[in-house]
Amino acid sequence: MIEITRETVSLLDQNDPLASFKEEFHLKTNSIYLDGNSLGLLSKRAEQSVLDVLNDWKEQGIDGWMGGKYPWFTLSEQLAEKLAVLVGAKPNEVIVTGSTTVNLHQLVATFFEPKPGKTKILADELTFPSDIYALQSQLKLKGLNPETELIQVRSQNGLTLEEDDIIAAMTEDVALILLPSVLYRSGQLLNIERLTQEAHKRNIPIGFDLCHSIGALPHELSKWGVDFAFWCNYKYVNAGPGGVGGLYVNQNHFSKTAGLSGWFGSNKESQFDMDHTFDGEQSAGGFQIGTPHMLSTAPLIGSLAIFEEATIEKVRTKSLSLTRLLMDLINQEMKDVFQVVNPLDDKRRGGHIALMHNDAARICKALKDNGIVPDFRSPNIIRLAPVALYNSYTDVYDAVQILSKIMKDKEYEKYENKREVIA
Ligand SMILES: *Cc1c(COP(=O)(O)O)cnc(C)c1O
Repeated sequence: MIEITRETVSLLDQNDPLASFKEEFHLKTNSIYLDGNSLGLLSKRAEQSVLDVLNDWKEQGIDGWMGGKYPWFTLSEQLAEKLAVLVGAKPNEVIVTGSTTVNLHQLVATFFEPKPGKTKILADELTFPSDIYALQSQLKLKGLNPETELIQVRSQNGLTLEEDDIIAAMTEDVALILLPSVLYRSGQLLNIERLTQEAHKRNIPIGFDLCHSIGALPHELSKWGVDFAFWCNYKYVNAGPGGVGGLYVNQNHFSKTAGLSGWFGSNKESQFDMDHTFDGEQSAGGFQIGTPHMLSTAPLIGSLAIFEEATIEKVRTKSLSLTRLLMDLINQEMKDVFQVVNPLDDKRRGGHIALMHNDAARICKALKDNGIVPDFRSPNIIRLAPVALYNSYTDVYDAVQILSKIMKDKEYEKYENKREVIA
């Protein structure tokens, strides 16, 4: 193999159509941020949109709902039009609302309709814990026992899932399927289209948690016929810590009444009639609950404007070549030091790479002290996410050189191999 050098890598930066977006983000000097899959960075445009919304509050008080620069009353719908492009849905199939876990509760409360002999929810054993807690409580709310009614597909290697195993578990007693698009540890991208087809052959509604794919890769939720989906916007979408999330409901389900109703799911014309009969909006907007959180919605205005210009297709193309370069460099500099446990195939890989090592916790501490911000997942996974909008190819090269030095000098041995409270 031809050696990859800093010079060859800098050529990639020169030919990068997204290179100029890096300047739009608040980046620290002498630091390379590779943790955009946990918390995306602040862009200057997102910062400005927060200031704009604050200013409308300052200047207009209550009139900001209809009269601000971005009228608050319809902002969740306005932004949903742009977010719909990222998930491949019609504008009214998406709404900006809630958080991942709250939206999951809302959608499972809506789509899980157990009947005699059809009472189970199918998920997987590698999914994010919050999703499992939510499913357990939704089963309990229906008077069902999560120990028997929640089925978690097993992983053969503890890191990835086989679609065939998931499909084999789509049995007659399953009333609902919930899966991640991209697994949060190994970064495996599931075949959403195939899983949806197989679920529908068996008349089972299927939904996806898109936390690790939204803003990292394109989706075609409408075309694939996915019933519902939800996500947070604070990872690859860069909408800030605890930023408002999103959900998608296929238009075939607009007649469903939200499992958890609230007045912001009302038809907008009649909402302020204050009638006690719920008149739900016939769109994804009908699944909103209460007053939208404007200050944590505001960053999305700037952030989604960036995605509109950059396009998710170009983001995906660059993301794949960044992660490919990262793997090639690790192979070149540190062969056999780490086990690369994310899928190697472009069609199976999300936006991050996952390295397995027994000293992962303290390697991450050493990286941080050397200006590289990685992400640790207990007990032994280092996740590295070079983000197309603000990481360059040279960032990837430099980060690998630093990691390589840490490993050669065993610098990580200075640290305790234990995770921090937040990891
Ligand atoms: C980040 C993440 C969450 C977080 O849920 P919140 O309700 O936003 O705290 C849930 N599920 C997955 C798969 C995630 O990656």
